[in-house]
Amino acid sequence: MNGATNHLNFDAVVVGGGVAGGEAALNLASNGYKVLLVEKELSIGGKMIMLSKVFPTLDCAACITTPKVSEISRHPNITIYTGSEISNINKIAENNFEVTVVKQPRYVVVEDCTACQLCEQACPVSVPDQYQYNMVGRKAAFIPFSIASPKAAAIDIESCVLCGACEKVCPTHCIDFTQEVQTLQIDTKTVILATGFKLFDPLMIPRYGFGMYKNVITSMQMERELAPTRPFNTVLRPGDGKVPDKIAYVLCTGSRDATVGNPICSQICCMYSIKQAQLLMGALPMADVTIYYINIRSFGKGFEEFYQQAKGMGVNFVKGKIGKISEQDNGNLTLRYEDINEGILKEADHDMVILSVGVLPNKDASAFFSQDELQLDPYNFIYQTDELVSPARTSIPGVFVAGTASGPMDIPDSILSAGSASSEAISYLINGQ
Ligand SMILES: Cc1cc2nc3c(=O)[nH]c(=O)nc-3n(C[C@H](O)[C@H](O)[C@H](O)COP(=O)(O)OP(=O)(O)OC[C@H]3O[C@@H](n4cnc5c(N)ncnc54)[C@H](O)[C@@H]3O)c2cc1C
Ligand code: SF4
Ligand code: SF4
Repeated sequence: MNGATNHLNFDAVVVGGGVAGGEAALNLASNGYKVLLVEKELSIGGKMIMLSKVFPTLDCAACITTPKVSEISRHPNITIYTGSEISNINKIAENNFEVTVVKQPRYVVVEDCTACQLCEQACPVSVPDQYQYNMVGRKAAFIPFSIASPKAAAIDIESCVLCGACEKVCPTHCIDFTQEVQTLQIDTKTVILATGFKLFDPLMIPRYGFGMYKNVITSMQMERELAPTRPFNTVLRPGDGKVPDKIAYVLCTGSRDATVGNPICSQICCMYSIKQAQLLMGALPMADVTIYYINIRSFGKGFEEFYQQAKGMGVNFVKGKIGKISEQDNGNLTLRYEDINEGILKEADHDMVILSVGVLPNKDASAFFSQDELQLDPYNFIYQTDELVSPARTSIPGVFVAGTASGPMDIPDSILSAGSASSEAISYLINGQ
């Protein structure tokens, strides 16, 4: 580890560069405050930058995210550290926090990289591509994805065999294997936590066959298949590349299920599944799409109409609880389910199954604070101490929460929540002056 410690000053540190953190950083920066945005991934944009389109308007997610991300990265008041994590936040006094940031080496000088991809082509090592949710491979020298910000290569040092092929072909000589981990000491007046959510891991429900049957995938994998920056040229099932024509969705996978430790509703899965079903009807007009649900929760503005629109397009809705999924010799899948309306067990065959995985808390933030306690709610999301009046406040004055770090919510609510967090932070900064 690099022993040199830098001391830097910012008005605000925003942790997490998803849609909520990005919005909060922009609001603060536009009001003249100096912001440090700390993101652990190689690109900002969070989950939204990986999505296809958004419910209920069906606007293209990348078309909304990329101008925002570019505004954030070009703003003179915002400094972004990607590939970086918080190791400690210490509150000294009101308006006085010491933050320790650990920046991992990218082994590429970002400012000099032209994203020409020659290193990718030369690199002999292939590994699963985490940004395509492991549906295709990538190289050890790689650009995370085509609309990443910063759009620059990185070296995955754990997979790298140090052959030097990338260095040899790089026209700008920006690959630098001497880069080291940097520990940076930051002084700031306020902190916004926008660390987002985790996706439920369907391996926890073995009877659904995820990880065992290749044609059982997650909703995030289907988002990638439907996105403009998709891994394949069409929607296909990973087992054999066949274009599916009888697709099933299993709602509430890992939500409203105390047996897997998550009794609450994830709020977004009904709507994103209905969205994907509509997109699939457009992409594969001959395909049958069936959604197995317990209840459809279409509570937001325009959501009920969006649900009815899907029915009108021919999406088949079955009120049914899935007991077990089993695989046939040809890779098709048999779903055994309880038809809730009729109260009887039934079976149905499909050639691809999408598990609509739920929203889980990201508990990272509670470990940031060594002296003060960042309280969590009973479901392990960040506790909002005054949810009705000041929803961004946490148990530590001067530390605010934005977006899904405080609970499941969709993109518009994450943006609203980021607005609330940034205005609370600005009031806190003004009061401290
Ligand atoms: C399959 C699917 C489809 C969806 N479709 C829609 C849709 O159509 N419409 C809609 O409104 N919503 C949709 N959503 C919901 C949407 O993705 C969320 O509302 C939104 O991403 C929340 O943004 P966020 O910034 O709160 O969290 P995230 O997107 O999770 O961003 C959090 C960021 O924080 C970073 N981070 C985490 N921990 C740390 C740490 N310790 N240090 C530094 N950085 C950290 C993460 O890397 C990430 O970049 C969908 C979700 C899924 C799963
Ligand atoms: S040095 Fe590593 S990243 Fe570069 S080409 Fe060789 S294996 Fe790939
Ligand atoms: S690291 Fe070099 S070879 Fe790779 S994309 Fe950047 S400029 Fe091109």
